Amino acid sequence: MRRDAAALTDGSRLEAEVVVVGAGPLGIATTLELANRGHQVLLIESGHAAFDPRTQRLSDADSRGEDAYHARRDVSIRRQVGGTSALWGGRCVPFDPVDFEPRPTVPERLWPIGYDELEKHLGRACGWAVCGDPVFNAREIPSLAGRDMTPGLPDGDVRTTDLERWALPTRFGSEYGEALDLHPNVDLVTGLTCTEIVCAPDGASVDHLELRSLGGLRATATGRRYVIATGGLEATRLLLASTAVHADGIGNHSGHLGRWYMAHIEARVAEVEFSAPPEQTIYAHERDPQGVYVRRRFSFDQDLLRGEAQPNAVAWIVNPELGDASHGSGILSGVYLTLRSPLGTYLLAEAIRQAHIKTSRPTRVRDHLRNILRDLGPAARFAVTFTYERFLRRGRKAPGFFVRSASNTYPLHYHGEHLPHWESRVFLSEERDELGMRRLCTDMHVGDEDVAAVRRALDRIDRHLREHGAGRIRYLSEDVEAGVRAYLQGIAGFHQTGTTRMSAHPDDGVVDPNLAVHGVPDLHVAATSVFPTSSQANPTLTGLAFAVRLADHLDDALRPAEPVTAVPAG
Ligand SMILES: Cc1cc2nc3c(=O)[nH]c(=O)nc-3n(C[C@H](O)[C@H](O)[C@H](O)COP(=O)(O)OP(=O)(O)OC[C@H]3O[C@@H](n4cnc5c(N)ncnc54)[C@H](O)[C@@H]3O)c2cc1C
Repeated sequence: MRRDAAALTDGSRLEAEVVVVGAGPLGIATTLELANRGHQVLLIESGHAAFDPRTQRLSDADSRGEDAYHARRDVSIRRQVGGTSALWGGRCVPFDPVDFEPRPTVPERLWPIGYDELEKHLGRACGWAVCGDPVFNAREIPSLAGRDMTPGLPDGDVRTTDLERWALPTRFGSEYGEALDLHPNVDLVTGLTCTEIVCAPDGASVDHLELRSLGGLRATATGRRYVIATGGLEATRLLLASTAVHADGIGNHSGHLGRWYMAHIEARVAEVEFSAPPEQTIYAHERDPQGVYVRRRFSFDQDLLRGEAQPNAVAWIVNPELGDASHGSGILSGVYLTLRSPLGTYLLAEAIRQAHIKTSRPTRVRDHLRNILRDLGPAARFAVTFTYERFLRRGRKAPGFFVRSASNTYPLHYHGEHLPHWESRVFLSEERDELGMRRLCTDMHVGDEDVAAVRRALDRIDRHLREHGAGRIRYLSEDVEAGVRAYLQGIAGFHQTGTTRMSAHPDDGVVDPNLAVHGVPDLHVAATSVFPTSSQANPTLTGLAFAVRLADHLDDALRPAEPVTAVPAG
């Protein structure tokens, strides 16, 4: 069942077995997993089915924020049923085994659980994301196994057979909207924001949730278990803002709440030139036997990362800067002009559109028009085919496009682990949103070691390519480190990890291995902020695996004990 807060009466007291706050990917997966096993779930969502700017402004950052790295909040978080999946690209990759282990770059054992806990739940996570089977290596897919990214390049310290998978892209609000509406065990209330978690006087359990609507309604919710699934930043904000009993916020017993804020280190500072004939390079998407789009990437051997001070990272091939008409491609120029036009804002999430049209060189429209005229046939064919595959086709959409390089040279996008730094943090400001909740400030810290890792990783790819006569890496400028910091400006914060970190002991983090807040066992956090390290991987698939795992745990905890049958003494 779905209802809007406007249908409630002021002072309503909502009740359910489990109360989930936030209908993004993780909240929806947790809700439906539990509901499918017979549990009554109340799902509280601040947004509505459609985007509403007034609701969106509840997530705005403090206006004095001077965090140069962080993306604007309106392009990095979405308050709407389905959450930020309304904006996401849909790239699905799990964290790696090495992410869970102590290693030279992260010597402490930060994760209280091992990779096996993720692996067990990956199949179901892929199911929720609709990204196919949990197979992430081309050698394990017969139709892809026989080909290499570039002929004869074996896996070694550097690997080129690992795959990323792509979701539909799955917009969780529309994909699961009907299931939420029709499920007899789900009560979804939209337009209702949780403004505070109020604990019982002893602080060891939740008494109730305070709920408010923009229409002025106040309500409360109670349940046997509570799951905060409001996204990495908003989950942290809600815990920090819940000060009625815990003066510094719930889960802040050891000062870790809001600390260790990580995103990913991203950069475009180099290009790869392959030696083989250009037509032999696999530079674009491929499809697995179920039609799921997959893509090869440069990655690093797990044992290498265990032995050396190199953060986990990957790199993938990208198109040249669309805005720099010297690429000479009518297709790229056509896409650039389309994305720059008013139509562009309807075609892509704003953050992704901005990334595509960002250019380091001044651009003249007439140079792009010249490219298009010179390439008219291929550009027109591309426009028709891609429009169909990306926007019109039902179901699975093309995640993007890549144009073959005649010189077999492609820019590389580095996507690497952001190391945990205590001083990288989020905290509450004195500014308040329309519902009276204190806004969040971010102060993201990127360390020299995060930046230095980029050159180290790319040098290693270069060595591997040269050793096998397969190609080489060329840096775009001498000051690679400055290039990394410049690229990161204003784009970090799409992937929000670390600020409610998981730990075995309360002294070391916010939630326990079952995602319950230490000391408040009925309160759980299902958000990517529970990850103590950030991996090379985009976080949502791993987040979904942990949501599924949490649902299993809650199902066990809530299931009535089996009646004990007395066995007559023999
Ligand atoms: C441009 C962009 C591209 C991305 N691409 C990828 C990608 O390719 N791959 C990937 O893995 N990840 C990607 N991400 C990240 C991905 O979108 C998030 O990891 C994912 O959406 C997190 O899911 P969630 O359910 O934890 O939170 P969210 O999706 O943020 O959902 C949280 C929900 O909680 C609601 N809410 C918030 N506060 C409250 C409150 N107080 N009370 C009630 N409800 C509340 C919100 O309205 C929202 O519906 C991308 C993100 C962006 C911005």
